[in-house]
Amino acid sequence: PLPSSVRALWDWFSKEGVISSKTPVKPGVVPEGLGLIATRDIAENDVILEVPRRFWVNPDTVEYSEIGKVCDGLNPWVSVALFLVREKLREDSKWKIYLDVLPETTDATIFWSDEELSELEGTQLLCTTLSVKEYVQMEFMKAEAEIIIPNRQLFPSAITLNDFFWAFGILRSRAFSRLQGQNLVVIPLIDLINHSAGITSEDHIHERTGPAGLFSWDLLFSLRTTVSVTAGEQVKCPKSSNASVKMMFIKVVFIQYGLKKTNSELALDYGFIESTPHRNAYSLTLEVPCSDPFFRDKLDITKLNGLDETTDFEILLGHPLPPKMLPFLRLIALGGTDAFLLDPSLRNSVWGCLEFPVSHANEKIICNVVRDACKYALSCYPTTIDEDEKLMTEGNLRPRLWIAVGIRSGEKKVLHQIDGIFKERELKLDQLEYYKERMLKELCQVGEKGESIPSESK
Ligand code: SAM
Repeated sequence: PLPSSVRALWDWFSKEGVISSKTPVKPGVVPEGLGLIATRDIAENDVILEVPRRFWVNPDTVEYSEIGKVCDGLNPWVSVALFLVREKLREDSKWKIYLDVLPETTDATIFWSDEELSELEGTQLLCTTLSVKEYVQMEFMKAEAEIIIPNRQLFPSAITLNDFFWAFGILRSRAFSRLQGQNLVVIPLIDLINHSAGITSEDHIHERTGPAGLFSWDLLFSLRTTVSVTAGEQVKCPKSSNASVKMMFIKVVFIQYGLKKTNSELALDYGFIESTPHRNAYSLTLEVPCSDPFFRDKLDITKLNGLDETTDFEILLGHPLPPKMLPFLRLIALGGTDAFLLDPSLRNSVWGCLEFPVSHANEKIICNVVRDACKYALSCYPTTIDEDEKLMTEGNLRPRLWIAVGIRSGEKKVLHQIDGIFKERELKLDQLEYYKERMLKELCQVGEKGESIPSESK
């Protein structure tokens, strides 16, 4: 049954003229928690909900509220988080009906206990989760010292770090980026839309000016479905051939939360993962060490080619290496007799050279460095991929354990893939063509052409 809080939100929006008998969806309980269910057939690109600006929660809402003045200049998400927490703690909040619908927690990794986090041992997601938690804690301490304590009359109820984490989690899992201005916005009702791997378009939100209630006109945040949805299916009952029975299929309307999001990002923000292989990723951070004797030259070349001194390369399962990764690795490893390539006269052409193997020694270094890094990273996980997969196929894992096992096996698969690529390169080191051979070949070709020109002109 639909929780009474959701019914109250629906009634409120009906009274305000935001939804009507024409609205093609209603809220419902689905495996993902609450969700939006089609009440009639909806065609591709049809608008399913439109919510006027007066119901949005964004930095403007905070600015025009009682705490607007004291939140002026704050990081936008911090001000919206303070607003949400403050309204949640107020008995007479005008937002109470909406706030009552929001979950207390999700399976996002920032809400996991230490014991649950220990299942992520060795993973990059564990490091990211811990650093995000630290960041939120620091922002809270700052807000407490600079905003909450000096303005006790505006914040009469005690606000805890947990309250602040709740608001942060709500924003990470429910906020949209506004199309104009890019600032975050939470839209009641529209935020009930869930994600499906089957949706391949992200073009589901629009803003337009239009009727916003009984007699008003305002900016509307529109949600569209990018695929057609049928409300239910008519099927023949097998025993009584003339009777046709309306199947009780509920058709949930979904969107795509982000085609480029990795499983780690989905787990961190929303508390779920997908089984789609390319959502598994591992991020390799490459850096020109400042102890490198050619540090300045290498940095110059790095910047000229749109990279930073420290650059993260995200490698996806089943995908080739990012195009700039090999040249960057070769640049970092460049030294010895290859160092002439760092000469300023070659500055504009050197990246082109680095796109191909430079020398046997250089290529060997990059293979060793990457393979050692993969081996070390793999040694930090307490379980093997086989052990993880066995757990997953045995089934019945609690959602958070399912996420942890999926993440750790995904990261290890990508590490094995990277190691495999460099292992293969290592085996081919003697057959690769290097810079000097390429130059020699080019010179010979020029030489051949050079000889043929005078003979043609005779
Ligand atoms: N289901 C939400 C609720 O009950 O309020 C409404 C959607 S809210 C924008 C995003 C949250 O919904 C996520 O943090 C996650 O808890 C859940 N969710 C959305 N899509 C999901 C999916 N494909 N699998 C599992 N959980 C999902």
